[in-house]
Amino acid sequence: ATPTAVVVGIGKGAQAGVLFRDAKALELAEKIDILVLDKTGTITEGKPVVTEIHVTAGQDRNQVLSFAASLEAGSSHPLAHAILEEARKEGLSLHTVQNFKSVMGQGVEGQIGNQSLKLGRSAWVAPEFSLNQDLLKELESKGQTLMVLADEARVLGYIAVADRIRESSKEAIAEIQKRGVKVMMLTGDNEGTAREISRQAGITDFKHSVKPADKANVIVTLKRKKLRVAMVGDGINDAPALAMADVSFSMSSGTDIAIETADVTLMKNDLRSVAQAIQLSHLTLKKIR
Ligand code: ADP
Ligand code: MG
Repeated sequence: ATPTAVVVGIGKGAQAGVLFRDAKALELAEKIDILVLDKTGTITEGKPVVTEIHVTAGQDRNQVLSFAASLEAGSSHPLAHAILEEARKEGLSLHTVQNFKSVMGQGVEGQIGNQSLKLGRSAWVAPEFSLNQDLLKELESKGQTLMVLADEARVLGYIAVADRIRESSKEAIAEIQKRGVKVMMLTGDNEGTAREISRQAGITDFKHSVKPADKANVIVTLKRKKLRVAMVGDGINDAPALAMADVSFSMSSGTDIAIETADVTLMKNDLRSVAQAIQLSHLTLKKIR
């Protein structure tokens, strides 16, 4: 039978917007050694906006944006929303896309007219030599996420988007660190952006350019070191890692699969709720022992 204290603890959590799936979830939250945080949508608001568009010689800005938006119409990624919103603001019409494909953690591709287009991570879209490295570095160092649009022959343009860290993230992370829990950031995004966002969030340990499948491997490697690992995420790409963690948290703004996988759902989309969950777990278990 579940001890009364646990039932009370779960109820208190619910009142504070911290939904524990079951008694075990509440109990496990006590002994976390390391908390792994996804970046986009978890530490940040996940509502990026387009900040800069650079086109290569001979290309038209609106054309690049409308190609990009047409490709993103088939994606539900936060970056897709940013590009579609920008195209909408500019009043651009979208093209029909054939053979659309969305590649998790990389980008989107498809055919418009007789052009085969790719939009996403620079390394996925185009060979290194065809990219404007100075521009990439400059934009990334400002903490922006960069997407490259290219057809089979050349790069057409660069679209930079920026995402702000959630107002409460820094405070929450400091509080969790003060409890003796290590914090690590894990992201599919590039190194420059990862460095800048982790700096803003007060995290020294981060892994960048991590493919969705490898996020789970990072969790497994930590567990092999006999650490109790918690993970917070929001996206489809986080679900395998959430499933591998000892305790998993999902933002309620996240995708259904992340929420279904997680042990704890954070109704306020606020990392301070993780600190609260840990505290609640401590208090509850103290009563039982
Ligand atoms: P995170 O781990 O920060 O949540 P993702 O793993 O979802 O990020 O994505 C990693 C990178 O892949 C993005 O920074 C972006 O460059 C590229 N990418 C992913 N999905 C898309 C998309 N729909 N459109 C364009 N680029 C994308
Ligand atoms: Mg995410």
